[in-house]
Amino acid sequence: MRPDLPPPALRLKLDGGALAANWRALGRLSGAARAGAAVKANAYGLGADFAVPVLRDAGCEDFFVAHWAEVPALLDHVPASAVAVLHGPLTAADAAYARAVGVRPVINSLPQARLWAEAGGGRCDLMVDSGMNRLGLTQAELADPLVQALDVDVLHSHLAASEEPDNPLNARQLARWTAARRALRHRRAALANSGGIMLGAAYHGDLTRPGIALYGGVPCAALDGVIAQVVTPQAALLQVRDVGMGEGVGYNATFIAPRAMRIGAVSLGYADGYLRCWSGKGELRHGDAVLPVVGRVSMDMTLVDLSAAPMLREGDWLDVAYALPAAATTSGLSQYELLTLLGRRFLR
Ligand SMILES: *Cc1c(COP(=O)(O)O)cnc(C)c1O
Repeated sequence: MRPDLPPPALRLKLDGGALAANWRALGRLSGAARAGAAVKANAYGLGADFAVPVLRDAGCEDFFVAHWAEVPALLDHVPASAVAVLHGPLTAADAAYARAVGVRPVINSLPQARLWAEAGGGRCDLMVDSGMNRLGLTQAELADPLVQALDVDVLHSHLAASEEPDNPLNARQLARWTAARRALRHRRAALANSGGIMLGAAYHGDLTRPGIALYGGVPCAALDGVIAQVVTPQAALLQVRDVGMGEGVGYNATFIAPRAMRIGAVSLGYADGYLRCWSGKGELRHGDAVLPVVGRVSMDMTLVDLSAAPMLREGDWLDVAYALPAAATTSGLSQYELLTLLGRRFLR
């Protein structure tokens, strides 16, 4: 037997209470519609094993992933009937898998409708394109007998600019989704992602599909103050050293110590999703003490100025400043990227 691994020097602090509260808030804001949850990409990087049970216990009954490979992690926590796969079947093997397991494919095209029918069919979801020109059937294709014969649970469409309430694309997409609802028999209809929920009752249908806001993202001003932070990356100090005035710090000495200072090397780097764009911009914290990132972020380490907390020692844990709206502004990354980048070396 191999000995147990010691815990790693980096972890995600995950606030399940905040995740549940965010889902409930988005449910209330969805009015008469129920809120589901987009949990693709391993629940936006947080870990499906963390997020799915929390959302289930909060009352969520509809879960959306993108890939077939993302299904098994969900089936540990929720029934197959609660899961839909947004990419739909690309191959006969995908369609056979959906039928064997009992999850719903989202049918996005005529070839997918044909694959599903040839596999034996059954309950599915369907995506209609309402103007994004990404995935989904056109309005005209809804009349195809193959499509009319489908047993559609949720008729979906997806908004391209829901975080911009004044973008005229929203109303155009709403009109096309409404027309699609008249053109095809279905049990439930869904249009809104996180931002779409804030566009008003007309956008709610029967079911909403929030993702980013569940996990602490604030895609639009209307959600300011409503959504709580869920994720805080934490990393341990590996080494502490005193550096003299004028010495270079880190790769290429992009930071030169302007005075004698104490520098800490932290177990977090771009291989963990803390990209080089944080070089000279990021902040770690210990309690109230702010520890600016100095020099270049490297693959496995980041260097911080310990001036505000000179008592810190090897093995002490630091929080990474990662409130998503502010972190996006500072880093230039989107709130979605900030979450889905978080790497595999974090203990979740
Ligand atoms: C990812 C996704 C969502 C969730 O979007 P957010 O902007 O994260 O709320 C909803 N619907 C579809 C089809 C998606 O792909």
